[in-house]
Amino acid sequence: MTPRTGRHFLQIPGPTNVPDQVLRAMAAPTIDHRGPEFSALTLRLLDAIKPVFGTDGPVVIYPASGTGAWEAALVNTLSPGDRVLCFETGHFATLWREMARALGLEVDGDFVAGDWRHGADPDVLAEKLAADKERAVKAVCVVHNETSTGVTSRIAEIRQAMDAADHPALLLVDTVSSLGSIDYRHDEWGVDVTVAGSQKGLMLPPGLSFNAVSRKALDASRTARLPKAFWDWQPIIEANRLGSFAYTPATNLFYGLEEALRMLAAEGLPSVYARHARHGAATRAAVRGWGLDVLCADEREASGSLTAVLVPDGHDADKVRGIILDRFDMSLGAGLGRLGGRVFRIGHLGNFNDLSLAGTLAGVQMGLELAGVPVDSGGLGAALDLMRSE
Ligand code: PLP
Repeated sequence: MTPRTGRHFLQIPGPTNVPDQVLRAMAAPTIDHRGPEFSALTLRLLDAIKPVFGTDGPVVIYPASGTGAWEAALVNTLSPGDRVLCFETGHFATLWREMARALGLEVDGDFVAGDWRHGADPDVLAEKLAADKERAVKAVCVVHNETSTGVTSRIAEIRQAMDAADHPALLLVDTVSSLGSIDYRHDEWGVDVTVAGSQKGLMLPPGLSFNAVSRKALDASRTARLPKAFWDWQPIIEANRLGSFAYTPATNLFYGLEEALRMLAAEGLPSVYARHARHGAATRAAVRGWGLDVLCADEREASGSLTAVLVPDGHDADKVRGIILDRFDMSLGAGLGRLGGRVFRIGHLGNFNDLSLAGTLAGVQMGLELAGVPVDSGGLGAALDLMRSE
């Protein structure tokens, strides 16, 4: 292995690079989570996090990874045997659906199969909901940004399809790899539960996850009968009123969260979203310049937080990643599920800038060449041209 000097390039699509300011903030001593100082911090954070979700309603914070927040969204709102409509947009959508099945929800009849290159289709949703005359579907689950594919779903259009069908199902949206990176509006888009995690656009280590909750979802939680205890919103929201929790919160991650939210507010959310969109566009320019294909098939749905790159037949994406790690000390995302060995994923989200992207793409280009994948070396230049001009 080449000796390591300088910083590792952590260009997987999360966990992302944690800014030094956030690391320093988390290095402060752990304090009494029932004391006045921590309560004041909690109350500040519960307010400061709302704009990132685009909500005025409650945001529940769990000391758990995103998977926990998936479960919380389901068990708080649904009852055994409820029908849930899921779209097969990729690996994470598939895992969420499997979780719903494991919890005793009915996920087979309303499943929308997909090719892992497109987002959830609002027209298909409109048809499915129009056909559901008994209003038996209780929730629609959509992953906003499929981390396995680099494809986003158009949540505003999903909402419009639900409204056009005048269907009462709840809309549950996973923003684990889009929150704080890609424009997102929980209230405006009429989302009922937004699921998120700390380790991607929020620039924190893994360990926190979130549910933003609409009034309708909160009402549903009063009659929902799936078993729940730790994930139950009600005692948490009750305790949050006084700045406390129904369990021991992740104290030091909260220090980091306050610093990360301060950084996002200082940059301004519109600029944060524009930065990610631009880096996504520059990355796609490089991929196409190399003569390779971006997995995302519809440019409207291309992700600002990561790009999945298809390697040509006869080549192994994991071999490319291995060479890049060994030679250039850079980690890229592996192909997940059915995409194993066929794609690698470039994360361009979080604490990131033009030169971080230039370094990342230079490493990818050299790795492709070393792996014997035929590429046009003008790819990197195409990305640099885009960043220089915009
Ligand atoms: N949803 C999406 C879109 C993800 O990318 C991930 C993880 O990467 C998850 C859910 C699961 O979150 P976690 O791994 O934090 O449990």
